[in-house]
Amino acid sequence: MNSFVGVSRRLVIKIGSSLLTNDGRGLDQQAIQGWVAQIAALRRLGKEVVLVSSGAVAAGMQRLGLAERPKALHLLQAAAAVGQMGLAQVWESCFSQHGIRTAQILLTHEDLSARKRYLNARSTVTTLLTWGVVPIINENDTVATDEIRVGDNDTLGALVTNLIDADGLVILTDQPGLFTADPRRDPAATLVGEARAGDPALEAMAGGAGSMLGRGGMITKITAAKRAARSGAHTVIASGREPRILERLAAGEAIGTQLTAQTPTLTARKQWLADHLQVRGEITLDSGAVRALRQDGKSLLPIGVIAVSGEFERGELVRCLDQEGREVARGLINYGAAETSKILKTPSEGIEAVLGYVDDEELIHRDNLVTLG
Ligand code: GLU
Repeated sequence: MNSFVGVSRRLVIKIGSSLLTNDGRGLDQQAIQGWVAQIAALRRLGKEVVLVSSGAVAAGMQRLGLAERPKALHLLQAAAAVGQMGLAQVWESCFSQHGIRTAQILLTHEDLSARKRYLNARSTVTTLLTWGVVPIINENDTVATDEIRVGDNDTLGALVTNLIDADGLVILTDQPGLFTADPRRDPAATLVGEARAGDPALEAMAGGAGSMLGRGGMITKITAAKRAARSGAHTVIASGREPRILERLAAGEAIGTQLTAQTPTLTARKQWLADHLQVRGEITLDSGAVRALRQDGKSLLPIGVIAVSGEFERGELVRCLDQEGREVARGLINYGAAETSKILKTPSEGIEAVLGYVDDEELIHRDNLVTLG
């Protein structure tokens, strides 16, 4: 088995907090210099690289002399604001030694879920790549509240992978990869060399627990691989402390755990829909509408909807359920919850009589809908 990194043209590389801050001792400039030199080597091989860098909170904690990760949101956000300065500084100065420009991009979940902002984020990152700049992405921790946050940078790495249609996601962490059980507790645990991204057996192996510094654990990495696989990208989870790790992966060496994508690639728009993390409501369809969506590839019309729940507005994401409550599809709805409940079971010609206006004949247009299962 060869690492996919060798044949990837566009890569997202995520580096975790415990690596970047040498387990909380402050930003590890020497280690960062090492990864930067390797990324410069990857670029000489013609690869495009986007970095997802954690470490804002951890660096902020160290700069502020906080021994423990703060719990209160405002303290976390303030620590991230301090730490992000240091992070950007270190990356920029290390890359400039190789004549490479960097750009800082701070995202929230909203930037990746609102269609318009998603398109903006995508074109900004791809423009930077065309210019030969290395985009360095983190969550905008300083403003991200629960409703708009991605939550951990493994997930952010996967969303960025989907956003720019990268071929692969490299997650560098302080572990050699995924083990069959927790190696700290089970001496018989062995490293998983390769598996299918999204294989349910992986979740059982990954357990819970993240570190004190970052937010992810093995489980968020497994889920990230599954998400990355939706746009056809493979993932490798490997130790960032392994010498010349990125260059060796790029030479095809199999190191760490490779999680291979097998799912067929969804078109970018549908993929974006399937990745939308925050569903705002649910609508229940009659069996005719379920068939129209599933078998005939049609749009969803109000006449096929029998119930509505949740608070949502025009343009937001809703889940479409069958009468047994199983999710059939999800999509961007053309009418808000209040309007939808007025026009359900209504033929499209009747929308105007009920609402006094017609925005669209479809409740969810086919192009904004992805069927599941
Ligand atoms: N965005 C967070 C930070 O930079 C890290 C989140 C994570 O560790 O997954 O501190």
